[in-house]
Amino acid sequence: MDNSFSFESLYKGAARAAHRAMDDHGRRDYNEFALHAGVAVELLAKAFLVSKNPIYIAETHKNANMLLYFGGDLQMAMKDVRTIGAKEAIARLRRLGVLQAHADLDTLIEMRNGAAHASSSGAEAKGMISPLARTIETLLGALGRPLDVFWGRWADALRAAVNEQQGEVHRDIQIRIAQARHAFDDRFNRLPRELKEHAISTEPHVITAAFDHIVEIDGKIFPSSIITPGGSCPSCTAQTTLLFGMVDRSADHTQYAPDGINCHVCRLSLSGFDEMAALRDILGPSHEAYDQLRTAALSTFLGSDWETD
Ligand SMILES: [Zn+2]
Repeated sequence: MDNSFSFESLYKGAARAAHRAMDDHGRRDYNEFALHAGVAVELLAKAFLVSKNPIYIAETHKNANMLLYFGGDLQMAMKDVRTIGAKEAIARLRRLGVLQAHADLDTLIEMRNGAAHASSSGAEAKGMISPLARTIETLLGALGRPLDVFWGRWADALRAAVNEQQGEVHRDIQIRIAQARHAFDDRFNRLPRELKEHAISTEPHVITAAFDHIVEIDGKIFPSSIITPGGSCPSCTAQTTLLFGMVDRSADHTQYAPDGINCHVCRLSLSGFDEMAALRDILGPSHEAYDQLRTAALSTFLGSDWETD
């Protein structure tokens, strides 16, 4: 039997496709992502079947020779060998009770087979990270193989992707932070180390008090939003720019909250109060650095007549 149908070969192919899928997702190429994610699931499903018995990946529908070939008793030219497709591999694992019926996984496999096309926005394909992570986790569990080895540098982000304790925004941001970090690392992969250090240490050009428009409250002037130098980027550690938006205003009470963050080096970009609240949550105690920065920045611009939450 050809070596490409061995457990190790299928397992490694699955890991390679899964990593490529995550890179695609980070580039926002969701159609490619769905394709590679589907291939990863298919190959790992086949690896599991082969670990039980190599005959289980034989395409026996039209050709009984496949049984004899995968049974190890018939020689065949590689071009004539037929294995089952992704859909049948999943179906067999469901019959064995390894995988449960799941509509999202079926959609992912349809996308992989080109039977379902991701919309132009890629919104549905983008969300396929969840069935990918879950199915891989289940199969690795059944194989007794560690998640960390399979996912490598993506392990933490993928663990976050299946963490039901966290909200969707929280999970999405953990993945985006890891994606920006890995894309940044890959960009400097073969370049001299000094270049990477130089990129990280270059400060962004920040207009400390840029704003969309002015709000006048009882004769006093306030900007509706403020851009300041931010703390270090959670992905690449370069200095970020931080956007604050006004959340509350009255004569004696003007309140700003973080409304976005941008990194000019690794291109990590978060926007909106919800995403910033999730980032604060993810950073944990280290968000104190942000608090100090914004205190200093807002004081410079507004004096003491302001407040943040
Ligand atoms: Zn960065």
